[in-house]
Amino acid sequence: MITVGIDVGGTKIAGALVSETGDILKSLKVPTPADNTDDLITAVVEMVKELSSGQEVAAVGVAIAGFIDADQSEVIYSPNLSLRNEPLKAKLEARLGIDVFVENDANAAGWAEYRFGAGKDSDHMMMITIGTGVGGAIVAKGELFRGGFGIGAELGHTNFIQEGRPCGCGQNGCLEQYASGSALLDSAKELAASGTLEGARLAELQSEVDELSGTEVYKAITESDPGALRLLNELGTNIGKAVASFAAILDPKMLVVGGGLSVAGELLLAPIREAYLNHLPARGYRPEMTVVAASLINDAGVVGAADLARRASAQR
Ligand SMILES: [Zn+2]
Repeated sequence: MITVGIDVGGTKIAGALVSETGDILKSLKVPTPADNTDDLITAVVEMVKELSSGQEVAAVGVAIAGFIDADQSEVIYSPNLSLRNEPLKAKLEARLGIDVFVENDANAAGWAEYRFGAGKDSDHMMMITIGTGVGGAIVAKGELFRGGFGIGAELGHTNFIQEGRPCGCGQNGCLEQYASGSALLDSAKELAASGTLEGARLAELQSEVDELSGTEVYKAITESDPGALRLLNELGTNIGKAVASFAAILDPKMLVVGGGLSVAGELLLAPIREAYLNHLPARGYRPEMTVVAASLINDAGVVGAADLARRASAQR
């Protein structure tokens, strides 16, 4: 049974025709229409039509960064896309005539890693996605955990620092503000502007420090620049400290680290592992989870959305 997976991001929409074994048969990418829900829906409809032309498609899964209701039909709130209480499923089904299921993007990515990627066959796993924000997904007993209202596993919006930095969710001190790609970039800009020896390489890569980009920070990391490495290390330590608490609740066997920053590999995983172990309650008396990098990276959202749609459609 072939399904279509769509991943709606803040800057681009990715889509793919996906087989039952998670293989991508055909893929497309277009820019996300800015601030216009109707245009966004039309872009998704056109993409699905193009991907499915000449194919029997069973269902469509749409992954979106935001809170999705328990019926997988409505986008309650999406911070980057200005979607509010949007009945996306009904609108897309009316235009496509196929079953559509909406899913949180981090959940879709986590599910893809569990089914076909780094977390394959690990029935109790959690995934942390470190990109612009910090996303989370939980697989418990081989099922995706969505919570009572459909919006569980928002691991990036757990409190990390009392009265800390303001977050887009309306709270203060969320993990996301101390462990996301955006947080890393802000710290790098601060360091570059500090005039210290530690910030010299970052300032050299971009003389207008406010214009410093993630690519430049990553370049400094790959050059083993001590300043950039310290910041990445701090980010990993923050993630590790937080996941030790999550492990106290969930007792997972594996943590999969995904998102754009996971390309840093061991440079990111090592401080996560170290801080996780240092903060693990009853350490030495409980089994320790393994910490691995995601393997599907850019395709996780579309593959996960397509597979979840296939399952949901078969259960109807
Ligand atoms: Zn938050």
